[in-house]
Amino acid sequence: MASVKKKKCTRCHRTLPLDAFCRCHTARDGRNFRCRGCEKKAKARWYAIPVNKAKWRKWYAAWRAVPKNHERHRKASARWYAEHLGQSYQRNKATFFASARRRQMCKLQRRPAWVDEAELNAVYARRDVLVLKTGLPYCVDHFWPLQHRDFSGLDLPWNLRVITATENGSKNNRRPDEFYSPAKFRRIITKLDQLRQAA
Ligand SMILES: [Zn+2]
Repeated sequence: MASVKKKKCTRCHRTLPLDAFCRCHTARDGRNFRCRGCEKKAKARWYAIPVNKAKWRKWYAAWRAVPKNHERHRKASARWYAEHLGQSYQRNKATFFASARRRQMCKLQRRPAWVDEAELNAVYARRDVLVLKTGLPYCVDHFWPLQHRDFSGLDLPWNLRVITATENGSKNNRRPDEFYSPAKFRRIITKLDQLRQAA
C-alpha cells in the first residue's frame, strides 16, 4: 500500500493527509501551512473585521476595473485546446471512436420505431441554419438526457432542443429540473408539450 503523505498543521497541530491542506505554490511542499479547517476559520476571522472587509472590497473593485482582454484569453485557450485535445485524440483514437459509437448506439436504442426521422432531422437542420446565421456553436440537446443514472430520455422530436454549446456543455447529463430554474423549466416543458400534442 502506498503511504499517504502527511503534514502537521501549524495551528491546530494535528497531523493530517496532504489533501487536508490547500495548494500553495510558494510553499516548498506545495501545500498551505495550516489545514483547510484552520484556513477557513482564519479567513472568516480576518473578514469579520470591518477594516479588512473594506480593504477587500477595495481590492475587488480595483480588480473589476481592470479591462480584461477576453479576446486574447479566448484565442490563447483555443490554441491550447486545439493542441492538447488534438494530442490526446491522436494518442487515444480507439477510445474516442468507441465512445462516439457508444453514444450513437445509445441514441438508436432510445429511438422508438414509430418516430418520423424526418422530424428529428428537421431539428438538426434548424441547428445548422442557426450556426450558419450566427456563426456560434449551437447544439441539439436532449431535454431529458439519454444517459442518466436514474432514467433515460428518448430520442423524440419533443425531447430535442437547439441550445448554445455553452449551455449544452454545462447541462451535460444533468436532470433539466435540477439544472434550470423552476420558472424556466416550466416554460420549456410547456413548449415541448405543445410540440408533442401537435405531432
Ligand atoms: Zn489545522
